[in-house]
Amino acid sequence: MDDSKNWHELIDSLFNWYHGGRIGKDSRPFFDNELYDAPHEAQAYAIKRFLRATHSYARSFNYLIDFLPDEYLPEIAEAAIVAIEVEPSNDRIVEAIARISDQQPTALHPYLGRLFEVMTHQDKHFGYDVQGSWRGASNIDGLKAIISDKQLPNEIRAKACECLLETRNPEVMLIAIKEIEAAYVVDTWLGLDDMLKQLGFEWNGEHLRQLYSDMVYHLIFQKEYRLTSVPEYPRPFTRPEHPTYHLDTSHAKQLAFGGVTEETCWICQGALHHVITITPELTGLVHSRQQVELVTCLSCLYMAASGLFYRHDESGKAIAMPHGEPIAIEELNSPGFMPTKVALVQTPSRWQWQDNKHHSDNANLSRLGGNPYWLQYNAEYLDCPECGKRMDFLMQLMDGLPEANGTQQAWGDTGIGYFFWCDKCAISGFVSVTT
Ligand SMILES: [Zn+2]
Ligand SMILES: [Zn+2]
Repeated sequence: MDDSKNWHELIDSLFNWYHGGRIGKDSRPFFDNELYDAPHEAQAYAIKRFLRATHSYARSFNYLIDFLPDEYLPEIAEAAIVAIEVEPSNDRIVEAIARISDQQPTALHPYLGRLFEVMTHQDKHFGYDVQGSWRGASNIDGLKAIISDKQLPNEIRAKACECLLETRNPEVMLIAIKEIEAAYVVDTWLGLDDMLKQLGFEWNGEHLRQLYSDMVYHLIFQKEYRLTSVPEYPRPFTRPEHPTYHLDTSHAKQLAFGGVTEETCWICQGALHHVITITPELTGLVHSRQQVELVTCLSCLYMAASGLFYRHDESGKAIAMPHGEPIAIEELNSPGFMPTKVALVQTPSRWQWQDNKHHSDNANLSRLGGNPYWLQYNAEYLDCPECGKRMDFLMQLMDGLPEANGTQQAWGDTGIGYFFWCDKCAISGFVSVTT
Protein backbone atom coordinates (compact mmCIF):
# COMPACT_ATOMS: atom_id res chain seq x y z
CA MET A 1 0.00 0.00 0.00
CA ASP A 2 1.53 3.33 -0.99
CA ASP A 3 1.66 6.34 1.21
CA SER A 4 -1.10 8.33 -0.47
CA LYS A 5 -3.48 5.37 -0.23
CA ASN A 6 -2.81 5.25 3.49
CA TRP A 7 -3.67 8.90 3.77
CA HIS A 8 -6.85 8.55 1.75
CA GLU A 9 -7.98 5.71 3.99
CA LEU A 10 -7.25 7.71 7.10
CA ILE A 11 -9.16 10.72 5.74
CA ASP A 12 -12.07 8.53 4.60
CA SER A 13 -12.35 6.98 8.02
CA LEU A 14 -12.24 10.42 9.60
CA PHE A 15 -14.94 11.53 7.20
CA ASN A 16 -17.13 8.52 8.00
CA TRP A 17 -16.57 9.09 11.66
CA TYR A 18 -17.82 12.69 11.45
CA HIS A 19 -20.49 11.69 9.00
CA GLY A 20 -21.88 9.35 11.65
CA GLY A 21 -22.31 12.37 13.89
CA ARG A 22 -19.62 11.44 16.40
CA ILE A 23 -17.89 14.73 16.87
CA GLY A 24 -15.80 14.29 19.97
CA LYS A 25 -13.98 17.50 20.81
CA ASP A 26 -10.97 15.56 22.06
CA SER A 27 -10.20 14.07 18.70
CA ARG A 28 -9.88 17.38 16.86
CA PRO A 29 -6.33 18.23 17.89
CA PHE A 30 -5.21 14.80 16.80
CA PHE A 31 -6.61 15.14 13.31
CA ASP A 32 -5.51 18.74 12.97
CA ASN A 33 -1.92 17.96 13.79
CA GLU A 34 -1.98 14.80 11.73
CA LEU A 35 -3.17 16.61 8.62
CA TYR A 36 -0.68 19.42 8.93
CA ASP A 37 2.08 16.91 8.46
CA ALA A 38 0.33 15.14 5.58
CA PRO A 39 1.55 15.47 1.97
CA HIS A 40 -0.15 18.31 0.05
CA GLU A 41 -2.01 15.84 -2.11
CA ALA A 42 -3.60 14.30 0.99
CA GLN A 43 -4.45 17.72 2.40
CA ALA A 44 -6.18 18.66 -0.85
CA TYR A 45 -8.04 15.37 -0.73
CA ALA A 46 -9.25 16.12 2.82
CA ILE A 47 -10.43 19.61 1.92
CA LYS A 48 -12.36 18.38 -1.12
CA ARG A 49 -13.80 15.40 0.77
CA PHE A 50 -15.18 17.61 3.50
CA LEU A 51 -16.48 20.23 1.07
CA ARG A 52 -18.68 17.50 -0.35
CA ALA A 53 -19.99 16.48 3.06
CA THR A 54 -23.56 17.61 3.24
CA HIS A 55 -23.87 17.68 7.02
CA SER A 56 -23.74 21.15 8.41
CA TYR A 57 -21.72 19.87 11.37
CA ALA A 58 -19.05 18.26 9.21
CA ARG A 59 -15.56 19.43 10.06
CA SER A 60 -13.95 22.17 8.01
CA PHE A 61 -10.41 21.79 6.81
CA ASN A 62 -10.45 25.09 4.96
CA TYR A 63 -7.49 26.46 6.92
CA LEU A 64 -5.33 23.91 5.11
CA ILE A 65 -5.99 25.82 1.88
CA ASP A 66 -3.59 28.48 3.13
CA PHE A 67 -0.77 25.94 3.37
CA LEU A 68 -1.20 24.36 -0.05
CA PRO A 69 1.08 25.41 -2.93
CA ASP A 70 -0.57 27.67 -5.56
CA GLU A 71 -1.06 24.85 -8.07
CA TYR A 72 -3.59 23.07 -5.84
CA LEU A 73 -6.02 25.98 -5.65
CA PRO A 74 -7.75 25.45 -9.03
CA GLU A 75 -8.88 21.94 -8.07
CA ILE A 76 -10.12 23.16 -4.67
CA ALA A 77 -11.96 25.99 -6.44
CA GLU A 78 -13.67 23.58 -8.79
CA ALA A 79 -14.68 21.27 -5.92
CA ALA A 80 -16.05 24.22 -3.96
CA ILE A 81 -18.18 25.39 -6.89
CA VAL A 82 -19.60 21.91 -7.41
CA ALA A 83 -20.29 21.70 -3.66
CA ILE A 84 -22.03 25.06 -3.41
CA GLU A 85 -24.35 24.18 -6.26
CA VAL A 86 -25.50 21.22 -4.15
CA GLU A 87 -25.64 23.04 -0.85
CA PRO A 88 -25.78 26.82 -1.36
CA SER A 89 -26.29 27.77 2.27
CA ASN A 90 -23.29 25.90 3.64
CA ASP A 91 -20.94 28.35 5.40
CA ARG A 92 -18.05 25.96 5.14
CA ILE A 93 -18.18 26.07 1.35
CA VAL A 94 -18.74 29.83 1.27
CA GLU A 95 -15.65 30.24 3.41
CA ALA A 96 -13.54 28.06 1.10
CA ILE A 97 -14.59 30.16 -1.90
CA ALA A 98 -13.90 33.40 -0.01
CA ARG A 99 -10.42 32.18 0.88
CA ILE A 100 -9.59 31.25 -2.70
CA SER A 101 -11.04 34.56 -3.92
CA ASP A 102 -8.41 36.34 -1.82
CA GLN A 103 -5.48 34.11 -2.66
CA GLN A 104 -6.06 33.23 -6.30
CA PRO A 105 -9.28 34.65 -7.78
CA THR A 106 -8.28 33.46 -11.26
CA ALA A 107 -8.91 29.90 -10.03
CA LEU A 108 -12.59 30.88 -9.68
CA HIS A 109 -12.94 32.88 -12.88
CA PRO A 110 -13.99 29.91 -15.06
CA TYR A 111 -17.01 29.39 -12.74
CA LEU A 112 -18.28 32.94 -12.23
CA GLY A 113 -21.42 32.36 -14.27
CA ARG A 114 -22.30 29.33 -12.17
CA LEU A 115 -21.48 31.14 -8.96
CA PHE A 116 -23.72 34.04 -9.92
CA GLU A 117 -26.56 31.61 -10.56
CA VAL A 118 -26.19 30.20 -7.05
CA MET A 119 -25.87 33.65 -5.49
CA THR A 120 -29.00 35.01 -7.05
CA HIS A 121 -31.01 32.26 -5.48
CA GLN A 122 -29.72 33.23 -2.08
CA ASP A 123 -30.01 36.23 0.18
CA LYS A 124 -27.62 39.03 -0.51
CA HIS A 125 -25.37 38.53 2.51
CA PHE A 126 -24.33 35.18 1.18
CA GLY A 127 -23.43 36.81 -2.09
CA TYR A 128 -21.32 39.41 -0.43
CA ASP A 129 -19.03 36.77 1.07
CA VAL A 130 -18.04 35.34 -2.29
CA GLN A 131 -18.18 38.43 -4.50
CA GLY A 132 -14.43 38.88 -4.17
CA SER A 133 -14.24 36.09 -6.77
CA TRP A 134 -14.85 38.79 -9.41
CA ARG A 135 -11.63 40.66 -8.59
CA GLY A 136 -9.64 41.01 -11.81
CA ALA A 137 -12.26 39.18 -13.87
CA SER A 138 -12.28 40.28 -17.50
CA ASN A 139 -15.26 38.37 -18.83
CA ILE A 140 -18.09 40.66 -17.77
CA ASP A 141 -20.39 40.47 -20.80
CA GLY A 142 -22.87 38.31 -18.86
CA LEU A 143 -23.11 40.85 -16.04
CA LYS A 144 -23.48 43.74 -18.49
CA ALA A 145 -26.34 41.91 -20.19
CA ILE A 146 -28.00 41.40 -16.80
CA ILE A 147 -27.85 45.03 -15.73
CA SER A 148 -29.22 46.27 -19.01
CA ASP A 149 -32.15 43.85 -18.97
CA LYS A 150 -34.70 46.00 -17.17
CA GLN A 151 -37.14 43.06 -17.04
CA LEU A 152 -34.99 41.26 -14.51
CA PRO A 153 -35.71 41.69 -10.79
CA ASN A 154 -33.84 44.53 -9.14
CA GLU A 155 -32.06 42.23 -6.65
CA ILE A 156 -30.42 40.34 -9.46
CA ARG A 157 -29.37 43.48 -11.29
CA ALA A 158 -28.10 45.01 -8.05
CA LYS A 159 -26.06 41.88 -7.43
CA ALA A 160 -24.60 42.13 -10.94
CA CYS A 161 -23.60 45.73 -10.20
CA GLU A 162 -21.88 44.67 -6.98
CA CYS A 163 -19.92 42.02 -8.87
CA LEU A 164 -18.87 44.61 -11.47
CA LEU A 165 -17.64 46.85 -8.64
CA GLU A 166 -15.72 43.93 -7.17
CA THR A 167 -13.63 43.59 -10.33
CA ARG A 168 -11.84 46.72 -9.04
CA ASN A 169 -11.22 47.65 -12.64
CA PRO A 170 -12.17 51.37 -12.73
CA GLU A 171 -13.59 51.21 -16.26
CA VAL A 172 -15.83 48.30 -15.34
CA MET A 173 -16.75 49.85 -12.00
CA LEU A 174 -17.97 52.97 -13.80
CA ILE A 175 -20.49 50.90 -15.74
CA ALA A 176 -22.05 49.77 -12.45
CA ILE A 177 -21.83 53.21 -10.84
CA LYS A 178 -23.66 54.83 -13.75
CA GLU A 179 -26.46 52.24 -13.54
CA ILE A 180 -26.85 52.73 -9.81
CA GLU A 181 -26.70 56.54 -10.03
CA ALA A 182 -29.26 56.66 -12.78
CA ALA A 183 -31.45 54.64 -10.40
CA TYR A 184 -31.87 51.95 -12.99
CA VAL A 185 -30.57 49.71 -10.23
CA VAL A 186 -31.65 50.53 -6.70
CA ASP A 187 -30.84 49.07 -3.34
CA THR A 188 -27.43 47.41 -3.43
CA TRP A 189 -26.70 45.85 -0.08
CA LEU A 190 -24.49 48.54 1.43
CA GLY A 191 -25.48 51.41 -0.82
CA LEU A 192 -23.07 52.81 -3.40
CA ASP A 193 -20.90 55.01 -1.14
CA ASP A 194 -20.44 52.43 1.58
CA MET A 195 -19.89 49.67 -0.90
CA LEU A 196 -17.18 51.72 -2.60
CA LYS A 197 -15.64 52.62 0.75
CA GLN A 198 -15.55 48.95 1.68
CA LEU A 199 -13.79 48.31 -1.63
CA GLY A 200 -11.35 51.16 -0.96
CA PHE A 201 -12.67 53.65 -3.53
CA GLU A 202 -14.21 57.09 -3.45
CA TRP A 203 -16.50 58.49 -6.12
CA ASN A 204 -17.09 62.22 -6.37
CA GLY A 205 -19.44 62.10 -9.33
CA GLU A 206 -16.57 62.52 -11.78
CA HIS A 207 -13.56 60.58 -10.63
CA LEU A 208 -13.04 57.26 -8.96
CA ARG A 209 -10.18 57.44 -6.51
CA GLN A 210 -8.46 54.37 -5.08
CA LEU A 211 -7.76 54.85 -1.37
CA TYR A 212 -4.95 52.33 -1.04
CA SER A 213 -1.72 51.55 -2.86
CA ASP A 214 -1.20 48.52 -5.06
CA MET A 215 2.15 47.85 -3.47
CA VAL A 216 2.01 45.75 -0.31
CA TYR A 217 4.66 44.86 2.23
CA HIS A 218 4.23 42.49 5.12
CA LEU A 219 5.88 43.42 8.37
CA ILE A 220 7.85 40.41 9.51
CA PHE A 221 8.83 40.63 13.16
CA GLN A 222 11.32 38.22 14.64
CA LYS A 223 9.53 35.36 16.34
CA GLU A 224 11.23 36.04 19.68
CA TYR A 225 9.94 39.59 19.51
CA ARG A 226 6.37 38.51 18.79
CA LEU A 227 6.52 35.98 21.61
CA THR A 228 7.97 38.41 24.16
CA SER A 229 4.69 38.24 26.01
CA VAL A 230 2.91 34.92 26.01
CA PRO A 231 -0.84 35.02 25.41
CA GLU A 232 -2.91 34.42 28.49
CA TYR A 233 -4.97 31.69 26.85
CA PRO A 234 -2.79 29.62 24.52
CA ARG A 235 -4.57 27.58 21.90
CA PRO A 236 -5.26 23.95 22.82
CA PHE A 237 -3.20 22.62 19.94
CA THR A 238 -0.40 24.10 17.97
CA ARG A 239 -0.74 24.66 14.27
CA PRO A 240 2.28 25.69 12.27
CA GLU A 241 2.36 29.44 11.89
CA HIS A 242 0.58 30.91 8.91
CA PRO A 243 2.76 31.32 5.78
CA THR A 244 2.41 35.13 6.05
CA TYR A 245 4.69 35.04 9.11
CA HIS A 246 7.39 33.30 7.14
CA LEU A 247 7.84 35.25 3.94
CA ASP A 248 11.37 35.36 2.57
CA THR A 249 13.17 38.21 4.32
CA SER A 250 16.48 37.86 2.46
CA HIS A 251 15.79 40.93 0.27
CA ALA A 252 13.75 42.78 2.86
CA LYS A 253 14.33 46.29 4.11
CA GLN A 254 15.03 46.34 7.83
CA LEU A 255 13.43 49.31 9.54
CA ALA A 256 13.50 50.54 13.11
CA PHE A 257 10.20 49.89 14.86
CA GLY A 258 8.87 51.12 18.19
CA GLY A 259 10.36 53.44 20.79
CA VAL A 260 9.42 57.04 21.52
CA THR A 261 9.94 60.45 19.89
CA GLU A 262 10.87 63.84 21.35
CA GLU A 263 7.40 65.19 20.70
CA THR A 264 4.55 64.87 23.15
CA CYS A 265 0.96 63.68 22.97
CA TRP A 266 -1.55 66.53 23.15
CA ILE A 267 -3.84 64.53 25.42
CA CYS A 268 -1.56 62.96 28.07
CA GLN A 269 1.57 65.10 27.51
CA GLY A 270 3.63 61.88 27.47
CA ALA A 271 6.20 61.12 24.77
CA LEU A 272 4.70 60.23 21.39
CA HIS A 273 5.22 56.59 20.50
CA HIS A 274 7.25 56.00 17.36
CA VAL A 275 5.92 53.16 15.24
CA ILE A 276 7.91 53.18 12.00
CA THR A 277 9.44 55.73 9.63
CA ILE A 278 8.60 55.08 6.01
CA THR A 279 9.98 56.45 2.76
CA PRO A 280 7.87 57.39 -0.30
CA GLU A 281 8.89 54.52 -2.58
CA LEU A 282 7.34 52.02 -0.16
CA THR A 283 3.75 53.04 -0.81
CA GLY A 284 3.46 55.29 -3.83
CA LEU A 285 1.06 57.41 -1.76
CA VAL A 286 3.58 59.74 -0.14
CA HIS A 287 4.87 62.51 -2.42
CA SER A 288 5.05 65.60 -0.26
CA ARG A 289 7.71 64.34 2.18
CA GLN A 290 11.01 62.49 1.85
CA GLN A 291 10.03 60.36 4.81
CA VAL A 292 7.13 60.07 7.22
CA GLU A 293 7.49 59.23 10.87
CA LEU A 294 4.38 57.26 11.81
CA VAL A 295 3.53 57.69 15.47
CA THR A 296 0.66 57.23 17.87
CA CYS A 297 0.02 57.38 21.60
CA LEU A 298 -0.77 53.92 22.91
CA SER A 299 -1.96 55.50 26.18
CA CYS A 300 -4.64 57.65 24.60
CA LEU A 301 -6.05 55.36 21.91
CA TYR A 302 -9.59 55.54 23.20
CA MET A 303 -9.60 59.16 24.23
CA ALA A 304 -9.70 60.57 20.72
CA ALA A 305 -13.24 60.47 19.43
CA SER A 306 -12.38 60.65 15.76
CA GLY A 307 -8.80 59.38 15.54
CA LEU A 308 -5.39 60.72 16.50
CA PHE A 309 -3.79 63.06 13.98
CA TYR A 310 -0.23 64.22 13.41
CA ARG A 311 1.17 67.00 11.28
CA HIS A 312 4.47 66.24 9.57
CA ASP A 313 7.12 68.95 9.25
CA GLU A 314 9.43 69.28 6.24
CA SER A 315 11.67 66.51 7.56
CA GLY A 316 8.67 64.21 8.10
CA LYS A 317 8.76 64.45 11.89
CA ALA A 318 5.33 63.99 13.51
CA ILE A 319 3.83 66.70 15.69
CA ALA A 320 0.60 66.06 17.56
CA MET A 321 -2.41 67.85 16.16
CA PRO A 322 -5.17 68.48 18.70
CA HIS A 323 -8.52 67.50 17.30
CA GLY A 324 -11.83 67.46 19.12
CA GLU A 325 -12.34 67.04 22.85
CA PRO A 326 -10.65 64.04 24.47
CA ILE A 327 -13.09 61.53 25.90
CA ALA A 328 -12.63 61.33 29.67
CA ILE A 329 -11.59 57.77 30.30
CA GLU A 330 -8.66 56.38 32.19
CA GLU A 331 -5.30 56.59 30.43
CA LEU A 332 -3.49 53.35 29.75
CA ASN A 333 -0.03 54.76 30.54
CA SER A 334 1.85 52.81 27.88
CA PRO A 335 5.60 53.17 27.28
CA GLY A 336 5.16 52.50 23.53
CA PHE A 337 6.24 49.49 21.53
CA MET A 338 9.41 47.67 22.52
CA PRO A 339 12.04 48.88 20.02
CA THR A 340 13.17 46.35 17.42
CA LYS A 341 14.01 45.98 13.74
CA VAL A 342 11.22 44.79 11.46
CA ALA A 343 11.67 43.31 7.98
CA LEU A 344 9.49 44.73 5.21
CA VAL A 345 8.91 42.02 2.65
CA GLN A 346 7.23 42.81 -0.63
CA THR A 347 4.15 40.60 -0.42
CA PRO A 348 3.81 37.78 -2.96
CA SER A 349 0.57 37.92 -4.96
CA ARG A 350 -0.95 35.04 -2.99
CA TRP A 351 -1.18 37.20 0.16
CA GLN A 352 -1.74 40.67 -1.23
CA TRP A 353 -5.44 40.39 -0.44
CA GLN A 354 -6.46 39.44 3.06
CA ASP A 355 -10.11 40.24 3.28
CA ASN A 356 -12.53 40.03 6.13
CA LYS A 357 -14.97 37.66 4.58
CA HIS A 358 -13.53 34.49 5.99
CA HIS A 359 -11.72 35.69 9.09
CA SER A 360 -8.07 35.31 8.12
CA ASP A 361 -7.46 33.24 11.19
CA ASN A 362 -3.88 33.01 12.36
CA ALA A 363 -2.56 35.06 9.45
CA ASN A 364 -0.10 37.92 9.79
CA LEU A 365 -2.15 41.07 9.21
CA SER A 366 0.58 43.64 9.88
CA ARG A 367 0.94 45.26 6.48
CA LEU A 368 2.17 48.44 4.84
CA GLY A 369 0.15 49.48 1.82
CA GLY A 370 -2.39 47.44 -0.08
CA ASN A 371 -6.07 47.09 0.60
CA PRO A 372 -6.77 47.20 4.35
CA TYR A 373 -8.19 44.22 6.21
CA TRP A 374 -11.32 45.36 8.03
CA LEU A 375 -12.51 43.40 11.01
CA GLN A 376 -16.16 43.51 9.99
CA TYR A 377 -18.00 45.21 7.18
CA ASN A 378 -16.89 48.47 8.69
CA ALA A 379 -14.34 50.27 6.53
CA GLU A 380 -13.22 53.17 8.70
CA TYR A 381 -11.16 55.47 6.51
CA LEU A 382 -10.44 58.68 8.40
CA ASP A 383 -11.15 62.13 6.98
CA CYS A 384 -8.33 64.64 7.03
CA PRO A 385 -8.94 67.18 9.83
CA GLU A 386 -7.46 69.96 7.69
CA CYS A 387 -8.95 69.61 4.22
CA GLY A 388 -11.79 67.20 5.02
CA LYS A 389 -10.83 64.78 2.26
CA ARG A 390 -10.94 61.06 2.89
CA MET A 391 -7.41 59.94 3.73
CA ASP A 392 -5.46 57.18 2.00
CA PHE A 393 -4.76 53.96 3.83
CA LEU A 394 -1.08 53.53 4.71
CA MET A 395 -0.50 50.74 7.19
CA GLN A 396 -2.16 48.39 9.64
CA LEU A 397 -0.76 46.66 12.70
CA MET A 398 -2.35 43.68 14.36
CA ASP A 399 -2.50 43.13 18.09
CA GLY A 400 -0.09 41.09 20.16
CA LEU A 401 3.13 43.09 19.74
CA PRO A 402 5.09 43.75 22.94
CA GLU A 403 5.20 47.14 24.61
CA ALA A 404 8.45 48.33 26.17
CA ASN A 405 7.32 47.06 29.60
CA GLY A 406 6.73 43.54 28.26
CA THR A 407 2.93 43.69 28.17
CA GLN A 408 1.13 42.72 25.04
CA GLN A 409 -0.44 45.47 22.97
CA ALA A 410 -3.99 44.49 22.15
CA TRP A 411 -5.72 47.58 20.76
CA GLY A 412 -8.16 47.19 23.59
CA ASP A 413 -9.11 43.56 23.25
CA THR A 414 -8.20 42.08 19.93
CA GLY A 415 -8.07 44.39 17.02
CA ILE A 416 -6.08 46.28 14.46
CA GLY A 417 -4.51 49.72 14.42
CA TYR A 418 -4.80 51.65 11.13
CA PHE A 419 -2.64 54.52 9.80
CA PHE A 420 -3.88 56.94 7.15
CA TRP A 421 -2.28 59.74 5.17
CA CYS A 422 -3.30 63.00 3.50
CA ASP A 423 -0.49 63.89 1.13
CA LYS A 424 -1.69 67.40 0.39
CA CYS A 425 -1.68 68.41 4.06
CA ALA A 426 1.13 66.04 5.16
CA ILE A 427 -1.06 64.77 7.98
CA SER A 428 -1.21 61.20 9.25
CA GLY A 429 -4.12 59.76 11.17
CA PHE A 430 -4.45 56.75 13.41
CA VAL A 431 -7.43 54.79 14.63
CA SER A 432 -7.74 51.41 16.30
CA VAL A 433 -10.65 49.09 15.76
CA THR A 434 -11.49 46.18 18.02
CA THR A 435 -13.59 43.13 17.38
ZN1 LIG B 1 -1.27 60.31 25.00
ZN1 LIG C 1 -5.79 67.04 4.08
